Amino acid sequence: MPAQLNVNASPSPSSVASPRKLGRASANQWLQSFSHPSVLNQFQGKLLDWYETSGRDLPWRRLPDLNDPYRIWTSEVMLQQTQVKTVLPYYNRWFEVFPTVESLAIADQQQVLKAWEGLGYYSRARNFHRAAKIVVEKHSGQFPKSLEAAQDLPGIGRTTAGGILSNAFDLPVPILDGNVKRVLSRLVALPVPPAKAMDALWFVSELILSGDRPRDFNQALMDLGATVCLRKNPTCLLCPWMSYCQAYRTNQTTIIPMTESKGPLPHKVIGVAVIENEQGEILIDRRLEEGLLGGLWEFPGGKVEPGESMEECVKREIKEELALDIEVGEELIVVNHAYTHFKVSLHVHLCRYLGGEPKAIASQEVRWVTLDTIDQYPFPKANTKIIEALKKRS
Ligand code: SF4
Repeated sequence: MPAQLNVNASPSPSSVASPRKLGRASANQWLQSFSHPSVLNQFQGKLLDWYETSGRDLPWRRLPDLNDPYRIWTSEVMLQQTQVKTVLPYYNRWFEVFPTVESLAIADQQQVLKAWEGLGYYSRARNFHRAAKIVVEKHSGQFPKSLEAAQDLPGIGRTTAGGILSNAFDLPVPILDGNVKRVLSRLVALPVPPAKAMDALWFVSELILSGDRPRDFNQALMDLGATVCLRKNPTCLLCPWMSYCQAYRTNQTTIIPMTESKGPLPHKVIGVAVIENEQGEILIDRRLEEGLLGGLWEFPGGKVEPGESMEECVKREIKEELALDIEVGEELIVVNHAYTHFKVSLHVHLCRYLGGEPKAIASQEVRWVTLDTIDQYPFPKANTKIIEALKKRS
């Protein structure tokens, strides 16, 4: 271990101006504490002991799931940018629909999106589906054990690959998810935002990883971030690494990890039409494949333009995107929703179909459906609120 530290490469003060170098310097400085392998063993042991008593009991850590790389892979994909408590019901239901990687590979994409409905970040579901096909066709249904081949699969970056390989096969592959970034940033007292020092954080994650118990070590690291080293108010007095933590020692836990100053999220105001025909059917359209919420169904609409009233917006959007004439009626509901990079307010109006043949000008397809059958289609979360409002009203 000490031979790998590259401590001699610690930059001199005059050469640490860039965030990347600052990150590397703090990591190197912290890693100097492990000048003897026994110190590192002790450090790893503290976390592993803590994990024995305080680790979370999660289905993908138990048998029989632990023997099934497909189940571990499912958990890792669902956990990307999503908390465990949100994932658990989806994880349990998923295998009722797709019990094996083969069943996922041959499924229809709409069925996959429906099972994912409400979990968000739908590109994960589309990529998981594509990756399942590749694993079945190219790897005979077995998840590849090499980091390179795992990262070649759609939707699998370095940390997801590390999570799958270490948990499914107990391989010594490091991870660096959001929780782990926070723990490591605090351990080394990273003086820059984590995004500016990713190579230094990967370096630390790799060097501290237990070679004997990589599965447990990585799982423990994630648990420490999720339950003790919290974003706000970390409970340092319960932390097995308190005596090693540079942020704790220097009283910087409230400012590390440092954040980049961001402006307020852009806010989009959208006019949405629930168009009803004479048979009482409602028109929905399917979003284009690429981009946000790709492949999901929604009620048609679009952004309000400057100087335009909501009614004018809805009428214009429906003409432009579906080539339909409608009469815009009363407002049904306003749905506010926040995505990662922007917020939306959907002003939903009940509309009456007047004429024209619906055309999928800005979507993949359009369909007239009834309220009784609408639940068969996968919708984004904001649109499910519109469906609830419609059902209440009927
Ligand atoms: S001592 Fe506190 S800040 Fe440091 S790793 Fe532990 S919980 Fe996080």
